[in-house]
Amino acid sequence: MRIRGLGRWALTWLLFSFTLSLAGQQKPVQDAVHEGPNPALPVLHIDNGPNSAQARAEHYVVLVSLDGFRWDYAKRDEAKHLLALGKHGVWAPEGMLPSYPSLTFPNHFTIVTGLYPEHHGLVANGFWDETRQERYGIGDAKAVTDGSWYSGTPLWSLAESQGMRTACFFWPGSEAKIAGFQPTYYLKFDDKIDDTARIQQVLEWLRLPEADRPHFITLYYSEPDHEGHEFGPDAAETRAAVLKVDGLVGKLKAGLDATGLSIDLVVVSDHGMAKVEGGWITLDQFADLTGFESVGSLLYGKTEEDRARVYNQLKKASSQFVVYRRRDVPPELNYSQNPREGDPVVIATGPYAIRAHAPPAGRTDQPPTAGAHGYDPRTLGQMKASFFAAGPDIVEGKTVQPFENVNLYPWLAHLLGLTPPKTDGSLNVLAGTLRDGGADREK
Ligand SMILES: [Zn+2]
Repeated sequence: MRIRGLGRWALTWLLFSFTLSLAGQQKPVQDAVHEGPNPALPVLHIDNGPNSAQARAEHYVVLVSLDGFRWDYAKRDEAKHLLALGKHGVWAPEGMLPSYPSLTFPNHFTIVTGLYPEHHGLVANGFWDETRQERYGIGDAKAVTDGSWYSGTPLWSLAESQGMRTACFFWPGSEAKIAGFQPTYYLKFDDKIDDTARIQQVLEWLRLPEADRPHFITLYYSEPDHEGHEFGPDAAETRAAVLKVDGLVGKLKAGLDATGLSIDLVVVSDHGMAKVEGGWITLDQFADLTGFESVGSLLYGKTEEDRARVYNQLKKASSQFVVYRRRDVPPELNYSQNPREGDPVVIATGPYAIRAHAPPAGRTDQPPTAGAHGYDPRTLGQMKASFFAAGPDIVEGKTVQPFENVNLYPWLAHLLGLTPPKTDGSLNVLAGTLRDGGADREK
């Protein structure tokens, strides 16, 4: 919903990373070398030392994200591998609640930090920072790899700081040094890398000698989000993509089983997808945005007077959105504390495409995509995400009620035997899915 270009974020991310790497503008971090275990893939390696003795004794967690895999897709399309995973472990048949806004970067980073977007800093896929006088955008390789944009302690940094090696086959934030660490192994985002090659790489990491073998691994697929945007959530193309990624999960699971290691496999998504209703709602048709910075539908007024004026102009403008002064955004959205959220804050009341401005003259104005997300999951249930997990530390055959995705972090940390910092999530929420009930372990 935020911006057309960013709604199609996967493609944008890909194109920008690709263009910039062609231009040679993005150099690997200083201490990284191109010598991953698979020479065919451009795996970057940071030497964080060997696994500690304690880390070696821990189990393994493979965290998979299927972008835009709406909570009801698995059952709807009979995704047999995911449903089997849920049956042998736990799943959320009514979905998992993404954090607001239900967008890709904010939610991926929430999943690995346990923080609401306004606490980890990625309040949208693109936003303005008044203090820095700079924009963050998921297609901007310089911003994406700059750790100073991010707050919180990503799970890989938590693990690395506690002597445990990690690997990311893509994850928002994994290309930056955050909380003092980068994953031991990671790759620059390039969505053209073959789906199966990603799985082979994960399995290769798990075949490394014990000292170097990552215990926490992320794996990311941009489907079925891409199809959901282009064709809508109910289209045949989207259903085909659902079954395609389900097949990849099946392949991964078989490969993980064959390693003989104790691996908890966790498959999640960042958000769902809704069919967009109507054409663009362009905010500058209702309000004078002179002097405002804007990114998508985010508005940044420079003076209190400007902010109050635009708030009043937008207040009764449309039934398709509500507008709040930032301090008055309803608390359940957790979207009132970070200046990056702008002020006033416009929130869609349905699956509508909202933007501050139309493209400048000379640039074609395309209609909104068929499908979109970013909306409040409490009012638009189609925004809910997926959660499936099974493994030696997880109980069998249990379902969980919809829960907020901030609670994954302490749960994942527990699976890995890590001590997490205080976050917005609580281990209590998913403790019933753990074989040990979430009890403290002797160290
Ligand atoms: Zn998307």
